[in-house]
Amino acid sequence: MASPSKINKNQPIIVCGGGGFIGGHLVAKFLEQGYKQVVCVDRKPMDGWYQVHRGVKNIAGAKGDLMSMDNCRRVMKGLEGAKVYQLAADMGGMGFIETHKAECMLSVMINTQMLIAAKEVGVDRFFYASSACVYNADKQRDPRVTALKEADAYPAMPEDGYGWEKLFSERMCRHFREDFGTQARVARFHNVYGPLGTWEGGREKAPAAICRKVMHAKHTGKLEIEIWGDGQQTRSFMYITDCVKGIQMITDSKDFFEPINLGSSELVSINQLVGIAEQIAGVKLNRSYKLDAPKGVAGRNSDNSLIQKTFGWEPDTRLREGMEKTYEWIEGEYLAKYGSGRGGKKFVEVSYHSNANGKANGHAVKNGSAKKPAARKPAGAKKAGAQSKSR
Ligand code: NAD
Repeated sequence: MASPSKINKNQPIIVCGGGGFIGGHLVAKFLEQGYKQVVCVDRKPMDGWYQVHRGVKNIAGAKGDLMSMDNCRRVMKGLEGAKVYQLAADMGGMGFIETHKAECMLSVMINTQMLIAAKEVGVDRFFYASSACVYNADKQRDPRVTALKEADAYPAMPEDGYGWEKLFSERMCRHFREDFGTQARVARFHNVYGPLGTWEGGREKAPAAICRKVMHAKHTGKLEIEIWGDGQQTRSFMYITDCVKGIQMITDSKDFFEPINLGSSELVSINQLVGIAEQIAGVKLNRSYKLDAPKGVAGRNSDNSLIQKTFGWEPDTRLREGMEKTYEWIEGEYLAKYGSGRGGKKFVEVSYHSNANGKANGHAVKNGSAKKPAARKPAGAKKAGAQSKSR
């Protein structure tokens, strides 16, 4: 079993990507636990953050863009002995990462520069959010999966673009630890979901997208749903509170530093996930399948033997329970934005299409022509200075 380090609530905490889904929840947890010096950094302007917390130093917009080495150094200035949580990345669900490979790979700059800045100042911990997309594609060709063990990342054949960036950054963390003594810790997240995250616009992941499609069908009375792929592809989904708990556990470990799975082992097919959302909504929909839409690997699950052995715990929130909370939150956002009923608020359900170059694109289609989602204040964003809520 890994031994935990001593907790010091005065230790500076830096959350990179804190305006995003997981980062916002992580900051909320630190505040709930009584940490006094929390810095939250994100390149989005603050009105686009999913959660804005009071009592935190928030660095947003251009000053929070960690693609700039100067900004990384400025963020870290004077924070010797801090714990850094590096969650900033340009990413999204399959519809995004299959079509934005260069953008995904450019996130390597964020992690590299934050590692350099952290090393220069001398930090206590550097947590890096990796992904199950690092795993070798050959081990994920069958929907009846053998759950992925940490060793299955090699020989390397990760998800093109996004997965390569994650695997490279994992190695960078390892070498900073070995060569410079930077205490890096790495978790490989498997599909995280929950309230206060992306649910529309093209970057959302399967649970949020399915909740939205199901409630849209329910509220418009058009009882149909388009599913990307044949629906047989399998995955596991980790609820956000488990993710936050795991991040803290892994970061605080004194003597365990290898990349480790952080995911649920409750395997479902996408068809089953749709079934869960239908049950929550109390509807039954006609399903159509978009076989040429981005769908990722055929099957993926998290082998949790190592996390069990090392920490005596694994993510254990049941999917049905987490989906209920997620559905409820998204429905609130959906209704606030589009209203209910069939009266024709202007919501057009995301429909997969290919663009003129034959490149996949997952944006909304209206009247048969491609339409990029309008820039908007993301759902759930709180005004600067708003009280944080613990969830
Ligand atoms: P998110 O998109 O909600 O949050 C990422 C945040 O990083 C965003 O708010 C974004 O504005 C910010 N960011 C992007 N580029 C930046 C830059 N140059 N400087 C500063 N901030 C920048 O995503 P999330 O779901 O919260 O994911 C957090 C981390 O976890 C990411 O590294 C992601 O790759 C990883 N991860 C997430 C999942 C998942 O299912 N959500 C799965 C595997 C790995």
